[in-house]
Amino acid sequence: MSKTHLGHRARKRFGQNFLHDQNIIEQIVDVINPQPGENLVEIGPGLAALTEPVADRSGHLNVIEIDRDLADRLESHPFLAPKLNVTRGDAMKIDFNQFTTSEKPLRVFGNLPYNISTPLIFHLLKYTASISDMHFMLQKEVVDRLAAEPGSKTYGRISVAVQQACRVTPVVNVPAGAFNPPPKVESAVVRLEPYAQSPYPVTDREQLHALCLQAFNQRRKTIRNNLKGLLSEAQLTELDIDPGARPETLSVADYCAMANYLSEQSN
Ligand code: SAM
Repeated sequence: MSKTHLGHRARKRFGQNFLHDQNIIEQIVDVINPQPGENLVEIGPGLAALTEPVADRSGHLNVIEIDRDLADRLESHPFLAPKLNVTRGDAMKIDFNQFTTSEKPLRVFGNLPYNISTPLIFHLLKYTASISDMHFMLQKEVVDRLAAEPGSKTYGRISVAVQQACRVTPVVNVPAGAFNPPPKVESAVVRLEPYAQSPYPVTDREQLHALCLQAFNQRRKTIRNNLKGLLSEAQLTELDIDPGARPETLSVADYCAMANYLSEQSN
């Protein structure tokens, strides 16, 4: 399929794959279910495939777009522009608290550029206290990782980080042909709902994220090996964690217990 869509040449460096399948677009907007007056933020509106139907339902929304040409198009769109607050820039550097002016919690969504989806999700985890839900189109493989259970091949540091903070629900599978140009992989939409009170409380999420980075560094090694210098065999045993276990077999609760232990030690 052509790399030009609605007169715009897709830029690979911005992960541009534009949705054109109306059926899929409607399904996604139904899943998001935007309501009038809600505080919505879209990451990467592009050529407005989701922006337009969402704005039709909500009346107004904030969008963040890095590509200047696309931001110009949105701001000069005769019908859409009055309904949009366009922020130009890199969503990974945006302080999402800037959108939390109203009493209403944020609802964040987007067909994310796949090259930055993992760091972007980690960035958004900093704002979960102000967010009621997030809907993201991602590589299906990434959605599988977000939802993965301990013991599975796809379970890793992002599964632990996201499941500590949010309820994770895969909602729609999207074939490559729904995009122009089609990506090389299958895609899926996932719903992330931040917990008001996580079933896995942690004192310091950054501590948890740093611990998981180290714990999953070498999946074939044991947790004792991967966490050398951070937690001793005796400390793992004290936490009821088998030092000989592989990182992917430990639960979200186990990782939170280790992170909380480290936070206590450093106080
Ligand atoms: N929402 C459109 C759609 O569904 O057809 C476009 C989706 S396209 C996969 C990703 C969009 O994110 C593009 O518009 C791209 O320019 C934008 N983008 C890429 N990197 C970005 C970043 N760091 N911050 C904000 N937007 C970004």
